[in-house]
Amino acid sequence: MNSLDLDWNSLNHESLELFKALLRLNTTNPPGNEVIATELLAESLREDNLEPFIVESAKNRSNLVVRLPANVPQDQVTQGPLLLAGHTDVVPANASQWTHDPFGAVEADGMIWGRGALDMKNMVAMSAMTIKLLARYDQIPRHRDVIFAAVADEEEGCTYGSSFLVNEHPDKVRAQDMLGEVGGFWLNLGSHTFIPVMVAEKGRAHLKLRASGPPGHGSIPHEQAAPLKLAKAITKLAEQGLPYHLTPVVEDFIHALASKQPAAQKIGLKGLLSSKLSPVILKKLFPDRNNARAFYAMLHNTAVPTIVRSGEKLNLIPDEASCELDGRILPGFSSSDLINEIKHLLDDPDIAVEELSASQPVSLTDYKNSSVFHTISSVLQKHAPQATCVPYMITGFTDARAFSTLGTHCYGFAPLKLEPHHNLSFSALFHGIDERVPVDGYTWGQEVLFDTVCALLSKQSN
Ligand SMILES: [Zn+2]
Repeated sequence: MNSLDLDWNSLNHESLELFKALLRLNTTNPPGNEVIATELLAESLREDNLEPFIVESAKNRSNLVVRLPANVPQDQVTQGPLLLAGHTDVVPANASQWTHDPFGAVEADGMIWGRGALDMKNMVAMSAMTIKLLARYDQIPRHRDVIFAAVADEEEGCTYGSSFLVNEHPDKVRAQDMLGEVGGFWLNLGSHTFIPVMVAEKGRAHLKLRASGPPGHGSIPHEQAAPLKLAKAITKLAEQGLPYHLTPVVEDFIHALASKQPAAQKIGLKGLLSSKLSPVILKKLFPDRNNARAFYAMLHNTAVPTIVRSGEKLNLIPDEASCELDGRILPGFSSSDLINEIKHLLDDPDIAVEELSASQPVSLTDYKNSSVFHTISSVLQKHAPQATCVPYMITGFTDARAFSTLGTHCYGFAPLKLEPHHNLSFSALFHGIDERVPVDGYTWGQEVLFDTVCALLSKQSN
């Protein structure tokens, strides 16, 4: 793809310096203050004669977009733009719990430590570096435009970042395909390495359960009391859960994992594909509870009580008790499906289920027929021949939720090598204490991203 002999030793050094500089900026959201990251990126992009568009969605909440047009004759530009997207905000870090300063970008033990190291200033730096290199080496053919967007506010729901850009400046970010979070990291299971590429996201519903019952005096208990009804409902929700659903991406993901495991693990994983066996396996047989919970969330609509309210006076039994639920919806289902499942489970006419807000799930792409997915797969084949590239659904959401509304096919692909000897788990580090990435894991990711982008730009058509 790239016929140039690039000096990756020096380019990786340059990329790492940009990455560390980003990590040193405190963009904890709230309040975000992403303007400092935007300024740093803009300065770096200008060094390669790129002129970024910068726009504030609120004070100090800035977003950056830069476009590098195709460099082949117009009749050879047959595909829409490729968007590289990353968010510059990070979740809070309590420095007293960390081994190194979360905003120090300390390099120790072969790792770079810092909040945002893998969520996702790594991808921001690698993407910026990729577009800088494409601008620097104009002899690399670009059969489509490439856009880089560094956005604010992903961690608090995207309002001031990707949603703002999609609503206010859609022409700047409209693309055919997008690479962003979450995916591309190494998942070492047993003796095999998998590299998930995200192609679907669960939706979200903010719901309220309202239990009603007769009021009364606190000195005389009665079994119809609203708080008791609510407590029973919450218990039922937690203990019995909602129905099992096997959706296509999760089915393919589990099949792919199972195919590379030894017999015992293979049976366990394959059992997850059965609605009858799955509950037993998840409750009893799955050794790692974190993995069991993650698989549970992939196989069910879920509703978790987070805010519970009832009563104001100690000696008065209130006539109402309520709780808010954080509901998550599988692709192929809607918030009303989720509400119906909850009503059916609770089966209590004194408990109302109400929707406060909802965003629907997204299948980000038809990955089986996607040339992008196949290109990613073949680039990985070259850079990690021992690994298997697998489709993946995340149970949360990302900026893809906003970008996909413009018709963009979104892929979670922020490549990062985590070898077994690194002893790091992506899911444990994500929003975790001591977030860090291996130096060689980052540089592997930089080269893989660059090669993937060159491959996606070199194609004349799908
Ligand atoms: Zn993130």
